[in-house]
Amino acid sequence: MKYFSTRGAGPVSLDDALRLGIASDGGLFLPEQLPHFDVTDFDHAETIPEVAGVLLQPFFEGSDLAGDLDAILEETFGFPIPATALPIAGHDVSLLELYHGPTVAFKDVGAGFLAACLSRLEGNAENPLTILVATSGDTGGAVAAAFDERPGMRVVVLFPDGRVSERQAHQLCCWSDNVLSLKVQGAFDDCQALVKGAMADPALSAEHRFSSANSINIGRLLPQSTYYADAGLRHFRRTGRRPGFIIPTGNLGNAFACIMAREMGLPIGPVILATNANRTIADYFETLEWLPRASLQTLASAMDVGDPSNMERLRRLVGEADVLREQLGVISVGDEQIEGSIRQDFAEFGFATCPHTATATHTYRQLDADLAEGHDWILVATAHPAKFETIVEPLIGESVPVPKELDALLSRPAHSMSIEPTLASLATVLG
Ligand SMILES: *Cc1c(COP(=O)(O)O)cnc(C)c1O
Repeated sequence: MKYFSTRGAGPVSLDDALRLGIASDGGLFLPEQLPHFDVTDFDHAETIPEVAGVLLQPFFEGSDLAGDLDAILEETFGFPIPATALPIAGHDVSLLELYHGPTVAFKDVGAGFLAACLSRLEGNAENPLTILVATSGDTGGAVAAAFDERPGMRVVVLFPDGRVSERQAHQLCCWSDNVLSLKVQGAFDDCQALVKGAMADPALSAEHRFSSANSINIGRLLPQSTYYADAGLRHFRRTGRRPGFIIPTGNLGNAFACIMAREMGLPIGPVILATNANRTIADYFETLEWLPRASLQTLASAMDVGDPSNMERLRRLVGEADVLREQLGVISVGDEQIEGSIRQDFAEFGFATCPHTATATHTYRQLDADLAEGHDWILVATAHPAKFETIVEPLIGESVPVPKELDALLSRPAHSMSIEPTLASLATVLG
């Protein structure tokens, strides 16, 4: 399979698309065409790695990694991704729990897969590959966890000092010697500017082999499409119906993977994007005009995106807003509604949801009767609530039990360095 940029550059191999992350013309990589599947193609696939093996095999044709695909998938899916039935009388609604990985958020899947691929492609080189990652919370932890202790790979995590929660800071700083955690004296935008600046700096990039692991890498989207395939297939085998999905959405990577699975013929019904107060996608569907803007801060902070990068892929794959809005729904959920939804989830389901997941449960409750009754629904849970305990606990009036994965991270020693938001300070600590 060859890969092209959304802006036309290419073709490149999968291996180069994984290494490069972003295309030379600034576009995002997409496969030249999507394979098509029938449900029966998955008759012998029971587990997620087996479903993923069937689904992803065409994407790996011609890759140096083709022979390693099964091993890569075993490594990626070392934790369960169950769909748990919700107690909603008379309706078939479940919660797809994407939060059982090492940092209890769905980004563990994409980061784990990318690390498994890149360490096989690049891990034996003499000069280690340095993965730069700017983070406002979840991404940095997932990437650090995925690359922790991998030979030949180094991760540099940059996060804004004082602007992530204590637990988030800890999971960004509790890794081995090949992970350097940097508290930047600035905002998230400064962290991102440092990563871009370092990668564009000829002297620095001659000295270090830089790569990035942000959510636009195709290596994050491919494995994400497999849990939608798996959940859709399971539901279809059980009921004979295609479930709809409601997906908490920020940069549109997770939802894009679901749409990609549907385009490939997997049993997936309506797809609805639940965003927070950042209305760029909702306004686009309403006005047909794409107007990216600065992001607003909300309780669902990992979705605070005003310029969702993966829209460029979606427009290329499916079409412009007039076509897109026929195939997708979008609902923007404000902070007060998120709070109300966390309370209601706890009262109705007996467990707490994280602020991101609460955008999906809120959206489900808002569906028109036709949609709600006409389909079974799978609501996507993107992180464990214990990661956002400072928001969730006051709302439910109880403490959230810490899952064993998070407990293991919190009991590791943390270490980090502090830097000024300048390229010179970054260059010094890179050595
Ligand atoms: C990143 C993230 C999201 C948003 O996912 P996108 O792929 O950026 O749309 C939602 N919830 C959580 C917990 C996240 O970390």
